[in-house]
Amino acid sequence: MLMLANIVPFFKCRFRKIGLFIFVFSFLFPTVSLAQKGSKISTIVIDAGHGGKDPGASGKHSHEKDITLKVALKLGHYISENLKDVKVIYTRKTDVFIPLYKRAEIANDHHADVFISIHCNSNPSTRAYGAESYVIGLYKTKDNLMVAQKENEAIMYEDNAKERYGGFDLNSPQSYINLSLFQNLHLKQSLQLAHDIESEFKSYAHRKARGVYQAGFLVLWQTTMPSVLVELGFLTNPKEEAYLLSNKGQSQLAYSIYLAFKKFKTNFERENNVKPAVQSSGAPQKLEYRVQFYASSSEIRNTGKRFKGVAEVSYYKSARYFKYTAGHFSTVSEAVKYRNVLRGKGYKDAFVVVFLNGKRISFTEARKFQSQKQH
Ligand SMILES: [Zn+2]
Repeated sequence: MLMLANIVPFFKCRFRKIGLFIFVFSFLFPTVSLAQKGSKISTIVIDAGHGGKDPGASGKHSHEKDITLKVALKLGHYISENLKDVKVIYTRKTDVFIPLYKRAEIANDHHADVFISIHCNSNPSTRAYGAESYVIGLYKTKDNLMVAQKENEAIMYEDNAKERYGGFDLNSPQSYINLSLFQNLHLKQSLQLAHDIESEFKSYAHRKARGVYQAGFLVLWQTTMPSVLVELGFLTNPKEEAYLLSNKGQSQLAYSIYLAFKKFKTNFERENNVKPAVQSSGAPQKLEYRVQFYASSSEIRNTGKRFKGVAEVSYYKSARYFKYTAGHFSTVSEAVKYRNVLRGKGYKDAFVVVFLNGKRISFTEARKFQSQKQH
């Protein structure tokens, strides 16, 4: 039962479908690598932990649900302001109770590309402090199990929780082991995002980053995209509680997560749009024209900002240079048209280049390929 319930959403999600396809495909043709052209991170679901009748963890002066909401809204604001191509969806924008399964459902129904659930930690010791990021998986320490247990306790506020979560028992370690079997297909990407978040907490907000861990979180159990649960800090540590309650603290933490998300998005899109593809045996081979307009000996980090107004920027590496191209055209004349547009924008040396299955080739080779195809 549990198994089926978890697999069905795999097929509901476009993003997941691609992943599954490659997954299956890689067994059929082990040496084939496919280019996921056009894969973009265009929707994020931001989940403010707890809410309404579920306050979450508590400090002397704070409830977790209030801090998670403020940080979630700030994070969404930074993303909407700076990454115009990303749609931000919140699981809640006010102080309301949302069941855990519903949060994952919102992410799946919106075909989100990333899911981030925001929380605050607590500990019997008032000395514990720092931020942690979690992805679903098997816990390695008792502390990690304890964090997941506390977060999963939210289901005590839900009706029919036992049936809803496949007989999940909050206090049984076996339940957590079972949960870890449903590891997200996007484990690698989830871990990458979690690491990015921890590293921004450290470098941008100058917080103690306690690291990336795995444990069985019900809120991450059913999501079908890269998913991370963030513990911003400990409400039980008076100094950290004051920071988490402050506007400055909330802004710094939200901005750190924004920076991490941006980095994750940039890297993901670079890898999925630009990588030269090795052609599979079955699929038709295809010529593609792009306009090369810029070259640099070092990689340009934020191409969206640097080449504002240039369409579909990608790059390929040639010798020691990163060569930047615009557009993906199926005919030379379309590419020439766009080359003229770019020349008008000040890229005076822009010229048309041709690719066969993601690999740059000469026009002579392109003509040869075309005449072979016609005969
Ligand atoms: Zn929480």
